[in-house]
Amino acid sequence: MPTRASDLVTLGLRIRHFRGERGLTLDQLGDRVGLAGSQLSLIENGRREPKLSTLQDVATALAVPITELLSGEAPNTRAALEIELARAQKNPLYGALGLPTVKVTKGMPLAALESLLGLHRELARLASEAIATPEEARRANTELREQMREQDNYMPDIEQLAEDQVRASGHLSGALTHREVSVMAEQLGFNLIYVNDLPGSTRSVTDLVNHRIYLPPASIPGGHGLRSMALQAMGHRLLGHERPDSYAEFLWQRLQINYFAAACLMPRNASVAFLANAKRERELSVEDFRDAFGVTHEAAALRLTNLATSHLEMPLHFLRVNGDGALQKGYENDGLPLPVDVTGSIEGQYVCKQWSARSAFTHTNRTTEFYQYTDTPVGTFWSATQTGAADGGEFSISVGVPFAQAKWFRGRETAQRAVSRCPDESCCRRPASEVSSRWAGKAWPSARLHAHVLSPLPSGTFPGVDDTEVYEFLEAHAAE
Ligand SMILES: [Zn+2]
Repeated sequence: MPTRASDLVTLGLRIRHFRGERGLTLDQLGDRVGLAGSQLSLIENGRREPKLSTLQDVATALAVPITELLSGEAPNTRAALEIELARAQKNPLYGALGLPTVKVTKGMPLAALESLLGLHRELARLASEAIATPEEARRANTELREQMREQDNYMPDIEQLAEDQVRASGHLSGALTHREVSVMAEQLGFNLIYVNDLPGSTRSVTDLVNHRIYLPPASIPGGHGLRSMALQAMGHRLLGHERPDSYAEFLWQRLQINYFAAACLMPRNASVAFLANAKRERELSVEDFRDAFGVTHEAAALRLTNLATSHLEMPLHFLRVNGDGALQKGYENDGLPLPVDVTGSIEGQYVCKQWSARSAFTHTNRTTEFYQYTDTPVGTFWSATQTGAADGGEFSISVGVPFAQAKWFRGRETAQRAVSRCPDESCCRRPASEVSSRWAGKAWPSARLHAHVLSPLPSGTFPGVDDTEVYEFLEAHAAE
């Protein structure tokens, strides 16, 4: 039996179609099936669901098989348009507009029907354009990452823009102050306003009429996050951004404003001078860079990826990994084999358990950076990892370089070594065959959903679950 409202509309139209073919009025058919004409009318209009026995009687009276009545197809072209319009008007997209529902009648001119439908179709098209599918989002993200890799994660135009803006604010050296950020906004003709009721889906809102940039309240006065958000909002203006008309453009704009904000907080000339000096002293470290410019560890690590290759002649990699080992963000131009899915996307993929990005979680002293040399199939890498915790749980930030570059960094003398054979699955992805055969088919883990919007479900026996970990967990607890 049809249950959806749109199916009832189709059913009603099919009954009306066959009744018309037989030359019967509503009352005449009603007499034959024991219903008042008005009740039959409700069924034909899709407003009432007929009982199965009634439907059988109607089919018999019209001399058609019941399956013919229940077919999902419109009986003719006009009916198909009526069904489509009825469906479109029930769509939440239309409901959200708060407009009345037009009753579709036999007497409605075909042109009116077609005109209304045309508008509904366009509404649906525009709405679907605005929402990127996860596949589109992942593809756009991967393309952007590959493009940035080609240019060594460096954008000279934005570097210069940030350099000029920061200088104009009167900033001399060290951390960019909150006051200097406000001056930058004023020079752009904007006031920074802190509010408690910023829409939940926004980071900032710019009022182009009254020249205000609304920001969330300063929970930590002068916090890095707030300066960064204000700078990002200014970045949109300075870079002449218009409303993005694709997801790829949206991502590109976001990358540009993030880059601009980072380049203001850690201006190129001062940063390169600081880093080049540290390199000369063989004391390069993300920690020191972070503290010198008053930013987060992640911001400093990412900024290093902008400048290391273009100004310090050094390829490198950056990883932000969740407590469960899934990659949240990654960049490399030093050949480190990042885990990728079939589309080439890295977000949500599990990095090798031997990498410092994961082994640092089990390290006892977490207040300082954890250093490690890792032998991989493409060579040895040195890396420094800092772990931390945020609302979403634990995470680690790693910056690493090929062995030959390790000599410039503090922590190069570490005795910590590991061997990674990934992407060979026998390295850390596949359970030992003995364990696997003992538990295969005898476990049912329930996957935890990834918070990251772009996260795919890692492939395995159970979507979204690392079976090796599940099996190891079972092994450990089964013995208890
Ligand atoms: Zn591995």
